[in-house]
Amino acid sequence: MIAANRQYPIISLFLGGKSKKEALRNMLSENSPKRLHCGVAVSLHCDLLSMRSPTPMLFADSDPLASPVVGQERMPRGARELAFNGHVSTTDVHYIIYSRLLVPFVDIVCVFADDFPSLDHVVDFLAECSARTLPSRPDPVRPRLMIVVNANSEGTKESGNEKQWPQQLDPGVLSRAFSAISIVHAGSSVGRLKRLMTAQAEAMHRLRRNHDFLFTATHMAFLFQAAVNHLARSFDEPFDFVSSSRTDGGVPLAVRDRLSLYRGLCRTEGLPDEVIAQSVASALIMDYYRPDMPLLDPQLVFRTFYRAYIAWMPRELDLTEGGWEDLVEASMIEQFGQLKNTGKSSVELRRGLMASQSDQFRRVKSNHLCLYCLFRPAQHPAACGHSLCDLCPQLFGTPAADREFYFTVTPCGHCLSPDPLVIDLLPPTMSPTVVAIDGGGVRAVIPLEFLILVQEHLGKDARLADFVDLGVGTSSGKA
Ligand SMILES: [Zn+2]
Ligand SMILES: [Zn+2]
Repeated sequence: MIAANRQYPIISLFLGGKSKKEALRNMLSENSPKRLHCGVAVSLHCDLLSMRSPTPMLFADSDPLASPVVGQERMPRGARELAFNGHVSTTDVHYIIYSRLLVPFVDIVCVFADDFPSLDHVVDFLAECSARTLPSRPDPVRPRLMIVVNANSEGTKESGNEKQWPQQLDPGVLSRAFSAISIVHAGSSVGRLKRLMTAQAEAMHRLRRNHDFLFTATHMAFLFQAAVNHLARSFDEPFDFVSSSRTDGGVPLAVRDRLSLYRGLCRTEGLPDEVIAQSVASALIMDYYRPDMPLLDPQLVFRTFYRAYIAWMPRELDLTEGGWEDLVEASMIEQFGQLKNTGKSSVELRRGLMASQSDQFRRVKSNHLCLYCLFRPAQHPAACGHSLCDLCPQLFGTPAADREFYFTVTPCGHCLSPDPLVIDLLPPTMSPTVVAIDGGGVRAVIPLEFLILVQEHLGKDARLADFVDLGVGTSSGKA
């Protein structure tokens, strides 16, 4: 793809034998016929005509009735071995690959019924796939199922009456995996199948956009690898697109304390929760919706990463009113709408909100907490009391033209003070911070006492341990 980080692929899964092959060959007439025979369990083809479009069409192709290739001694490059508990048949492996890896990622599943020995086989196959699917996607954006029959054959070989199919294909069972089922009489016209497929694909794309569950090709590749790793680890848990979308391992626990510290500071200055919630929500948006992240449903994002932290309340913060987390969630959803509709970045939105709230928030000050992101400790104090962490000068400041890692922040984002704050950052390649205590009984006491004094000076809101990457000691007790 020419711009994988701006293209949103639509993937269809084609399941069947001979007639599926024929349909694929006709639909992908630009592709080399040789490439359509890969001889592996599942192969992926792209529609060359759509590769430059914003929604390239991809086709995963597999034959559920084919005997798997056995006796392959060497694993292909990049392959990952899955360890199964107990006996798993080759048929099971097909079902596992379809239901756990492919169905969560595709938009349309096309089953070519004429390639199955009987209608019962089709029904059993779909019911089994559906029953093994674990819910990974919100209901409306689950893939659509198309059962393709050839109109010329007057239905299937056994029943000859397609109208009975919806009853036999129990929609209750199938809804676990699919959002809609349709039966397509392709007949001899491949054009008709392609038109129907395209219409379904466009509908799915619109739905995914409306439900904020759309991924670029870059996201897809990353998430698919995450799904493979997930399947290797866990058989019972569904793959979670939202929690897998972060590459940084999630939100650190210290953020919970910092967000509650912030709320406490704001309440001390008499600010109402409704206003504080807007500020916190914009910080959450800035944390998750970085430029390279998918625009995922803000409610799902909030509930996956932040709600538990927001709901947590330290004992010393005596705030009994409920509904705080609901206020933050509602504000995050509202601000996400602006992010999506205005095309502004999450940092621009936060900057705009801070400026518009400066009259209310200028009195909120801290030398412990970065008041720009609310997620990291303050490391660069400002004379006005609105300090910054190491990352925020890069987001909110202007870089010096002639000096690397040198930023000027002006005006202050909170009080709009015009005094420039010049920040000289450590380069990211700078060594980590290590505390080494050369002990051996009483010799360790002196540096430990010294550290205690430093900690007392910093106060309880700034833990010395947060500034140290590694602590080591020799016979120094629990340093
Ligand atoms: Zn910050
Ligand atoms: Zn300020």
